[in-house]
Amino acid sequence: MAIDLTRDAISLAEGLANGEFTSVELTQACLDRIAQFDDRVGAFLYINAEGALETAAEADRRRAAGEDVHVLTGVPIALKDNIVTRGMPTTCASKILEGWLPPYDATVVERIKAAALPILGKTNLDEFAMGSSSEHSAFKLTHNPWDLDRVPGGSGGGSAAAVAAFFAPLALGSDTGGSIRQPAAVTGTVGAKPTYGNVSRYGLIAMASSMDQIGPVTRSVRDAAALQDLIGGYDFHDSTSQEALEKDLLGQVKATKVEDLKGLRVGIVKQLTGEGYAPAVSEHFEKTVQVLKDFGAEVSVVDCPAFDYAMPAYYLIMPAEVSSNLARFDGVRYGLRVEPEEGPVTVERVMEATRGAGFGHEVKRRILLGTFVLSAGQVDAYYGAAQKVRTLIQNDFDRAFEQVDVLISPTSPTTAFKLGEKESDPMAMYLNDVATVPANMSGVPGISIPNGVDDKGLPVGVQVLAPARQDALMYRVASLIEEASNDHTAEQCPAKDWKVA
Ligand code: GLN
Repeated sequence: MAIDLTRDAISLAEGLANGEFTSVELTQACLDRIAQFDDRVGAFLYINAEGALETAAEADRRRAAGEDVHVLTGVPIALKDNIVTRGMPTTCASKILEGWLPPYDATVVERIKAAALPILGKTNLDEFAMGSSSEHSAFKLTHNPWDLDRVPGGSGGGSAAAVAAFFAPLALGSDTGGSIRQPAAVTGTVGAKPTYGNVSRYGLIAMASSMDQIGPVTRSVRDAAALQDLIGGYDFHDSTSQEALEKDLLGQVKATKVEDLKGLRVGIVKQLTGEGYAPAVSEHFEKTVQVLKDFGAEVSVVDCPAFDYAMPAYYLIMPAEVSSNLARFDGVRYGLRVEPEEGPVTVERVMEATRGAGFGHEVKRRILLGTFVLSAGQVDAYYGAAQKVRTLIQNDFDRAFEQVDVLISPTSPTTAFKLGEKESDPMAMYLNDVATVPANMSGVPGISIPNGVDDKGLPVGVQVLAPARQDALMYRVASLIEEASNDHTAEQCPAKDWKVA
C-alpha cells in the first residue's frame, strides 16, 4: 500500500499510532519521492537517508513498546541549512561554509532528535538567509513545485518547496524579515514565525540576531502548532529565550471551534493593503475578510503609520547586525580558507582572500552597507534613526492591539514570480517582505496560511499577526480562518500528480 504523502503531519502521525504504516515505511516513502523528483525541484542540499531511517526505526520501537511519545514522533522533517546539525553538513548555502561539519546540534535539533523525528536532510536557501527567492544560494536553484519556472520564495525556499512537493510533511525555516512566511505564501504552505524568544536561536547561524526566529513550515495550522510545541520554550543556551506563556498550542487549536470567530476583533492593517498588492492577492484577501464577517467577526481597519517606514529601517538595522555577525567567517575558524595568490600570508590577507572567494554578491552588499551605517560618522544618522523607527512600529502594534485581538494582511504583495525576474534588481526583491518585516521589527508572532490560488494556478497567502507571547491566539485564529474558508490549497499542488518518467 502506498502512503498518501499529501496528508498533513498530524494525520500521518495518526497513521503511525494506528499501525497503518511504520515510521520506517513513511520515511522511506519520503526518501523515495525525494530521489524521484528532487532533481526537478532542488529543495535539498543534503539528504540524510541512513540517519533518517535509523531514527525512524527508533520511533517505531518506542511506539511498539507503548512508550509515552510526542504526537509527532516518527514523522519526518526537513531542516533549513542554516540550522546546525552535528556531523551533518551545514552550509547556509554559502561557499564559505562548504565542508564544515558542526560539532553540536542546535537546540531545536536536539529536541527533534529527542522526540525521534527522522531528519530527511538540509534544505536550500538564499546565502545566509539573505533574499526572497532562494536564487542567492551558492549551490543550486530551487524551483516552485506549483510552476517549475518560478521561485519558491526565500530565503527558506527549500523548506517550503520540500513541504509543497510532498517530500516532507514538516520542515523548519528561519524568519528575520519574512523568510518563513513569504515562501509559505508562494508555495501554498503554512509558515509561522513565533514570538521573538519563544523558540531558541542556539545553533541558528545568525543573520540579524534581534529579529531571527526559527519556526515551522507545514501543510496545516495544527501541524505548525504541534511543531512549535516540540521546539519551543526556554533554553539555557539562548539568553533571549523565554518560557512560552501558553503551552500545548496543539491542544488549544483543537479546542477551537469556528463559532469562536463570533465577536473576534480582527484588524486589517491599512498600510498593508491596496496599492502595491497584485489584484489577485487583494481579491483573495477581500474574500477571506468577507468569510470572517460572515462568521461574525468584527472587522475594522487599523492605522499603523510607521509601517510605511519598516522597509527602509529594516535595511539599516538588518545589515548592521549582519556585518557584525558575519565577522566570524574569517578563514580561520570555519570551512573555507583561501590564501592570497601572491605576497605574504598574513591573517588580514587570508581573511580578505577567503571572504572575497567565499561570500556571494548579496552577502557582500549587506556587509558593506552594515559596516557603513555603523561607522563613527554615520551611526546616529542611520542606525540610530532606524532604531527610533523600530520603536514607532512597536508603538503602532501596541495601539493596534488595544483596539483588536489580531491583525491580518496579505502575506506577500505578489504570487510567485519567474526565476531571474528580480534577481538583478535588489530593490524589487526587497519589497517582497513589506508585509512580513513589521512583525520581526517588533517581535510579535505571525503566520501565513494558504488563501486560494490565482487564475494562473499560483497560491496566495494570508497573514495573521497576534500580540507578543500570544502565539496560541495566532494559531487558533489561523486555524479558524483555515476552517471557515475551507481552503485545501496545501493538498492541491500539481506535484501530487507527478509521475516517474
Ligand atoms: N527577504 C528578507 C531579507 O532578505 C528576509 C530574510 C529572512 O527573513 N531571512 O532580508
